[in-house]
Amino acid sequence: MSDSHGQWFDPADRCSPLEPAPEERLQLLGRLVDVIEAHTAGIRELPVSPTEEPSTLRAAIESYDFQLPREPAATLEEVAGWLRRGIVHTSHPRYFGLFNPRPAFMGILGDALAAAFNPQLAAATHAPAAVEVERHLVRYMAERLGFHADSIVGSFTTGGAEANLSAVLVALTRTFPDVVEQGLRAVEGQPVFYASTESHLAWLKIAQATGLGRDAVRLVAVEPDLKLSMTALRAQVAEDRGRGLLPFMVVATAGTTSSGTIDPLGPIADVCQDEQLHFHVDAAWAGAVALSEQLKGAIAGIERADSVTVDAHKWLSAPMGAGMFLCGDEQALRRTFDVSTAYMPAPSADAPDPYVNSIQWSRRFIGLKVFLALAVAGQSGYAAQIEGDCQRAKLLRGLLETSGWHIVNETPLPVVCFVDALQPVDAELHQRLCSSLVASGRAWLSVTRVRGETVLRTCITSFLTDDADVRGLVADLNDARDEAMATS
Ligand SMILES: *Cc1c(COP(=O)(O)O)cnc(C)c1O
Repeated sequence: MSDSHGQWFDPADRCSPLEPAPEERLQLLGRLVDVIEAHTAGIRELPVSPTEEPSTLRAAIESYDFQLPREPAATLEEVAGWLRRGIVHTSHPRYFGLFNPRPAFMGILGDALAAAFNPQLAAATHAPAAVEVERHLVRYMAERLGFHADSIVGSFTTGGAEANLSAVLVALTRTFPDVVEQGLRAVEGQPVFYASTESHLAWLKIAQATGLGRDAVRLVAVEPDLKLSMTALRAQVAEDRGRGLLPFMVVATAGTTSSGTIDPLGPIADVCQDEQLHFHVDAAWAGAVALSEQLKGAIAGIERADSVTVDAHKWLSAPMGAGMFLCGDEQALRRTFDVSTAYMPAPSADAPDPYVNSIQWSRRFIGLKVFLALAVAGQSGYAAQIEGDCQRAKLLRGLLETSGWHIVNETPLPVVCFVDALQPVDAELHQRLCSSLVASGRAWLSVTRVRGETVLRTCITSFLTDDADVRGLVADLNDARDEAMATS
């Protein structure tokens, strides 16, 4: 512990404990720049997994009693050390994980800039520059997804879960308009919605939070290829209607979390049209392929959606958190979220106030990190990365197949699920291989369940991951398996 207690600021300087004097500020900014650059440049040297025990971290953190001011530079260094030793480095090229990206460098700068200017985006008149940046990005994303930009409204969200929650609320408003004022008790019957068993199960929490209850999520079976079964969907809707339940929405997942499967978007859109149901596409991570001419066909049909979720903090490499909710029914969006108050500034004539169009009230400038990263990399830069990730996933599949592993999912997206093919199916072995690789700090991967079987899962969404990392992963997996077989 450094000798860092005591009054480091001089009240006579008219500086505040919350903001040092100019000279000290410059020094601190310099330290921060050093910390960020050392981390950015030195990431390959770090183990992917935490190296410090949680109990050690806890003791260090609890030594802060917040009674006396601490010296800022030493404090910054100490906290940076906790981060270096106490997190899974999702920005590491050998993090083959859960779509948490290595953040785009301009995105890091954007987040810092947003914190420093701290615009309030609740009301458009409070931050017209920020509101226009986000509006422009929403329109850009809508166009890339195949919508007419004028037909879509939307907002930045903290992530995919908030965007999906927005979808349920808007779909309820569209189907049962009285719900806005009277709540679900205005509905005579139980509203239900549909998503596949492979969908992101935040839907259960969302159903609970909206008062629908978890049973309102009808988890529809998938085909052997893990895509939502159209036969099962039609049958379930018919059966539910027969029982007096009230279907109001179908969710298609464009890029499931577990296996990167894309549900049949066109056929689901047809069902929604026939059955008068809200069509939502959860493209949280794979919506990014809209930026690639070569790959965007994989999510064709998304342009028929009534609403879409896209996370910028996944495959668009924005620092967390940054999601987007896009919606084709401006009136319903407004009816869902509008509240007028005496104290909020009068609305702008030029743009709607974000607080009347979304769940959040006070709003951080989430779009800035996305804007800066996109402006500087360009669509071509993103396309190259996204296509490159898919290429590296192909390389990975090939290498695995030739070294005695079997691929169990089929997708154009960079998620690769596989099992050991050298011996009988062994869930415990896969769990053990995963744990030993993660513990070694050489790579991070996970296990998931595919068709009831425990399988290994890797995902490549980092622009830093290269072919050598992919080869290294396969070599490590082979070694871990050899070792497990030798000791069993
Ligand atoms: C990650 C993910 C979500 C949840 O998004 P958060 O940003 O974690 O809130 C929802 N759906 C899918 C398909 C996802 O991959």
